[in-house]
Amino acid sequence: MTRGMSNIVGQVQPSATLSLKEEVNSLREKYGLNIIDLTAGQPDAGPTEDVLGALLDGGRLHKYGPVQGEPELREVLSKAIEEEVGVRWDPQDIAITVGAKGGIDILMRVLLNPGDGVGILSPYWVTYPESVKIAQGTPCCMEPSGNLRPDLGILRAELRAKNVKVLLYSSPCNPSGIIYTRDELEGIAKIVKEEDVWVISDEIYRKFAFDGREVPSILSFEGVRNNAILVDGPSKRFGVPGWRLGCLAGPREVIKAVTKLQGHTSSGASRPVQYAACVAYTSQKAAEACEDMRRRYQRNRDIFVAGLNGIDGISCVKPEGAFYAFPDVGWLFGRRYEFDGREHVIKDSADFGSFLLRKAEVAGVEGAPFGMGTHIRFSLATNEEDSVQAVGNIREAVEELF
Ligand code: PMP
Repeated sequence: MTRGMSNIVGQVQPSATLSLKEEVNSLREKYGLNIIDLTAGQPDAGPTEDVLGALLDGGRLHKYGPVQGEPELREVLSKAIEEEVGVRWDPQDIAITVGAKGGIDILMRVLLNPGDGVGILSPYWVTYPESVKIAQGTPCCMEPSGNLRPDLGILRAELRAKNVKVLLYSSPCNPSGIIYTRDELEGIAKIVKEEDVWVISDEIYRKFAFDGREVPSILSFEGVRNNAILVDGPSKRFGVPGWRLGCLAGPREVIKAVTKLQGHTSSGASRPVQYAACVAYTSQKAAEACEDMRRRYQRNRDIFVAGLNGIDGISCVKPEGAFYAFPDVGWLFGRRYEFDGREHVIKDSADFGSFLLRKAEVAGVEGAPFGMGTHIRFSLATNEEDSVQAVGNIREAVEELF
C-alpha cells in the first residue's frame, strides 16, 4: 500500500464561495472595482450584549462536558421547539452539535451504509450532497416544480426508483426562500410514512419568514415522528454562525447513536457557547434583534426582487423567508460582453456571476452547486443601501447585453 488519500476527498466539491472570494479580491486589487458582496450565508448583525456577556461567563466551563450537550440548554431547546413546532421532545431526545452542519454530518454517518440513497429536494443547500458523499452515501437530487416548489410526483417516483433511505430539505429554503406549505408537507409526510424512509427537516431559517407567513414543520404531522429528525441552531437567528452550535431533535435511538459517534469526533460543542445559547434562547433583547433583522431582510427582499423582476432576461420567484433571492438568469446565456479588451460569452451561471462582478460590481453565488445551473444566489442579509445600489447596477449591466 502506498501513500495517498481517500477517494472521498476527490469526490467532494470544494466550496463555491471560497473560489469566488479569490476572484472578488483579485478584481478589487487589479481593476479597483468597488464590489457589493451579496454572497454571505450569514446575518449581517451579531449577538446582543447580554448574550455576549454570557459567553464570557461561560468561559468558566473549561472542562469536558456532556457529549450530548448541556442539560440546561437541552431543556431550553425542548421548550423553544415545543413553542415553535408545536411538538414536545424530551431533553433526552435532543443532541447539541458543532453547528447545524456538524449535526447533519454526524446524522449521515448514523443513518447511512455505503451506497444508501439520500433524496435531496432541489434547489438545496450546497453542503447536503457533499455531506452524503462524506458518509459514503449516494445523493439523489430531485427536481422541483417550475416555481421551485417541491414536486411530490417526482419525489414519490424517485424515492422508489433510487432506493432512497433518507429525505433531506430545508424550509425556509436556502437558496430559494420557499417555505413549504402545510399541504406540501402533509403530502411529503404521507410518502415518508408509506415508504418508511427517514426525513431530515432543516429549519435553521424558521425565524426568517416574511409577510406574516407561518413556518409549518413536517414534525408536527401525526405518525411521522418516528421517521423524522429536526435540524436547527442559533447561527442565523442570533447572528452567531462563528460560534459553531447546532441541535438535532429526533427518535431516541438516533439521538443516542449521534451521541455515541460525537463522543469520538468532537466530544460535543463548546461549553461556553452552550451557556451563552441558553441566554440567547430566553432573552427578550435577542428575540427583538432577530425580529429586527427579519424586518430588514423582508424590506431588502421587496426592493431587490421587484428590481430583478423588472429586468429583461431575469425572473425571480418571490422569497417567502430565509434571506436569499435565487433568480433564473438562463435566458441570458449566449449573450456577449467586453471586459479588459476581450469578448466574453456567458455560457452558464458561473459566467453570469463573473459578468456581474466585472460589469455590475456585484457578487452572487452561481446556482450549479445549489442544484440549478440556470440560477444565481444573492444574499438579502445586508443594508438597504446596498440592496438598492446592487439591483440598479445589475439592471444597467444587463441592459448592455441586448
Ligand atoms: N442549513 C442550512 C440550510 C444553511 O444554510 C446553513 C448555513 N449556511 C446551515 C444549515 C449550517 O448552519 P451552522 O452554521 O449552524 O452549521
